[in-house]
Amino acid sequence: MVIQGETLEETARQLLLQRGVTIDDLAELVLFLQKPYITNLTTETCIENIEAVLSKREVHNAIITGIQLDILAEQKQLLHPLQEILTEDEGLYGIDEILALAIVNVYGTIGFTNYGYIDKVKPGILKKLNAHDGKQCHTFLDDIVGAIAAAAASRLAHSNPAQSPITQ
Ligand code: MG
Repeated sequence: MVIQGETLEETARQLLLQRGVTIDDLAELVLFLQKPYITNLTTETCIENIEAVLSKREVHNAIITGIQLDILAEQKQLLHPLQEILTEDEGLYGIDEILALAIVNVYGTIGFTNYGYIDKVKPGILKKLNAHDGKQCHTFLDDIVGAIAAAAASRLAHSNPAQSPITQ
């Protein structure tokens, strides 16, 4: 499989789609995270914030690095014991979560709490990616997807200061 986007951003976006993650899947996660805090939050607003997250270079780099490792694991191209760790999505590995922090960081600390929460609850596409029911390896992708949603939700929160009890 050769993926050649014109830009780093195009390549990252194409990789997400090829691995089965759409903008609508991401929007569903952002809606899940922010709906309790923002009245009348729409899918369109969620998508606007996801698009902003997907325009950041550090996000592109995390996406292409994580998905590349997932693909190499599927192709059995990794060294032992990393090959087995990724194939089995070994719970104590933790580097998949660390890589995703490069995305979570982009819009401040609210991203951290959102990320931890969504990783625990695993709504929508996250549940599918964690099913471990096929030949595909999503050890890195699930964290990347959760992190994109968490960062977009954080951006949304910061752009709605009127929701805060403390206003300036
Ligand atoms: Mg993972």
